[in-house]
Amino acid sequence: MDKVTCLADAALPTRYGQFRVMTFEVDETRSVSLALVRGTVSGSRPPLVRLHSQCLTGDVFGSLRCDCGEQLAAALVRIATSDGGILLYLPQEGRGIGLVNKIRAYALQDDGLDTVDANLMLGLPVDRREYGSAAAILRYLGVARVRLLTNNPAKLRALEGHGIRVVERVPLETTPNPVNLPYLRTKAERLGHLLGLTVDDLDTRPARCNGHGTRGRR
Ligand SMILES: [Zn+2]
Repeated sequence: MDKVTCLADAALPTRYGQFRVMTFEVDETRSVSLALVRGTVSGSRPPLVRLHSQCLTGDVFGSLRCDCGEQLAAALVRIATSDGGILLYLPQEGRGIGLVNKIRAYALQDDGLDTVDANLMLGLPVDRREYGSAAAILRYLGVARVRLLTNNPAKLRALEGHGIRVVERVPLETTPNPVNLPYLRTKAERLGHLLGLTVDDLDTRPARCNGHGTRGRR
């Protein structure tokens, strides 16, 4: 079982609302995760929790290649308006393959591969993220049951595997843009994410007139 040490703790007013920011070092890897804590989280009502894996390009630079930045902002809005909630910011860039490999995978995607095949082409796992340290931080905060903000059933199962009970899955959907739509489609079709993409979202080939008054596809 992962062990974590709380190293620092301060108030963090944000544009979304007031949080407490706490830094945790994972004893085994020495990696540092952040917890943004809102309100009371160890009471009887399970807090709203988001496990957000770091995405420098999406979170900081507003990259449209993925939906990470938008999900981060949406999660902070939801948590800031809840009675109690926690956002854990986990240093697992590029689904755990690291920043350089993520950019290498982007280059392969520029040549037409999807996010899954690009990772495989580089000899890397499709998803290397782990949530044992997230579970350890939640336990430190006195949290055994959560309402989890996620579209990813695998994340929910992983957290439960580390002993945190997920009493509710709260969807966290973003609005697709023309750049990230293929990425979102791959997440839905190949990685099992529960995204409410419509048929039109999923098929971005141009519509054409088929002479029968209905919409066809090329
Ligand atoms: Zn991202």
